[in-house]
Amino acid sequence: MIAEILCIGTELLMGQVLNTNAQFLSRRLSALGVSQYHQTVVGDNPHRLEEAYRLALSRADVVITSGGLGPTVDDITKRIAAGIAGKELVLFPEAEEMVRTRFQQLHRELTPNNLSQAMFTPDSTLLLNPNGTAPGAIVPMGEGKVVIHLPGPPAELQPMFISQVEPWLSRQSGKVLVSRYISIFGMGEAEVDQRLSDLEQVFNPSLSPYCSLAEVQLRATACADTPEEAENLLAPLVEEVRRRLGDVVYAVSDDDGMTLAAAAVGALKEKGWTVATAESLTGGMISAAMVDISGASSVVRGGFVTYQTDTKTLLVDVPAKTIEDCNVVSAEVALAMAKGARSKLDTDIAVSATGLAGPDGGTPERPVGTVYVGIATRDNAFALHLPLSGNRARIRTVAMKHALNALRLTALGKEVPKVAGG
Ligand code: ATP
Ligand code: MG
Repeated sequence: MIAEILCIGTELLMGQVLNTNAQFLSRRLSALGVSQYHQTVVGDNPHRLEEAYRLALSRADVVITSGGLGPTVDDITKRIAAGIAGKELVLFPEAEEMVRTRFQQLHRELTPNNLSQAMFTPDSTLLLNPNGTAPGAIVPMGEGKVVIHLPGPPAELQPMFISQVEPWLSRQSGKVLVSRYISIFGMGEAEVDQRLSDLEQVFNPSLSPYCSLAEVQLRATACADTPEEAENLLAPLVEEVRRRLGDVVYAVSDDDGMTLAAAAVGALKEKGWTVATAESLTGGMISAAMVDISGASSVVRGGFVTYQTDTKTLLVDVPAKTIEDCNVVSAEVALAMAKGARSKLDTDIAVSATGLAGPDGGTPERPVGTVYVGIATRDNAFALHLPLSGNRARIRTVAMKHALNALRLTALGKEVPKVAGG
């Protein structure tokens, strides 16, 4: 398969914008084993764009365009391609929905010319754009050739290409793509990047990081002729990532659905341990997250939501004096909650969380986001101090993640960092 990249935009010709899309696309295409013999940059001029399309289509099977999908008059990328294919642009209802939803999210008024972003030739396959308004498309041009339209902004083009165009290309070229998702908790994106930067420069197997709430995910992808060859490319990369990052890697899986809760339940199950919870600011989230995992019943024995101060004494025997002396948000109270829950339900381990989710109630000594997590086992107990940041929902969720991670590491017999932000 031969591909040709066609970047559209007068700003590229004038040197106002560096053509990073061409570099990105050509590196990814070579990793996929797709040949490229020419590359073109053309301004927003209908006549010259048509010429560039015809030439590219005469010598490549797939022409990948970047830019000019917006709603303004100089956005002619789709119209000229449709003319060459001899087809009309029609409104795609799904695309219209995407454009409308995006405008609603941005609280922007939708004008009729914005709907041109939802118009494609009838036999096009849409490419979703979660990062912008203009969807892309795979457009059949006749004689087995296609044009693939991608938006100009790199933050939109790159994810669209990786998640939607690469799988399509690999199907066409008979190559297989195999991916592994590596889930990380307890190390920031910057540090992960720093430790793996040389691996992220390699294009096959490729390694791309993305972040979710207080976590980093890495996607490792290999392209090869057979699944076995792809696996052989991936295995050493995954091993190297594990070696460099250590215990913060909590899962390596074939899909991106692996959660910290699943890792915690898995580790407890492996160890044959039962768990109890005593939750204040998380209000049952730790226990609910574990119960989400099928098979949790052999692990999760039960738990206590001890939200108001006196319920910590009533339900899990935290001495009133400890609360009075140390404050209800303290390492001592977290420890007493975990010990109390463990002994009440006679489990192998217990976890607790107490903290200030805000927005009110912070003091200079204990600002909003101050959280303590306690862990008690039959022969050990310790507390974590977590100075967290963000709004109420974020603080509660990140506190829950730290609690699950502490369970996971303890069950695996690993050290748990005693102070951690997030
Ligand atoms: P929009 O809806 O934002 O107008 P578009 O698909 O019409 O998107 P363009 O208008 O051509 O895209 O380009 C939008 C911006 O994307 C440019 O101003 C530039 O910052 C960036 N961009 C466009 N092409 C490239 C490229 N080849 N390499 C790097 N950045 C680019
Ligand atoms: Mg534009």
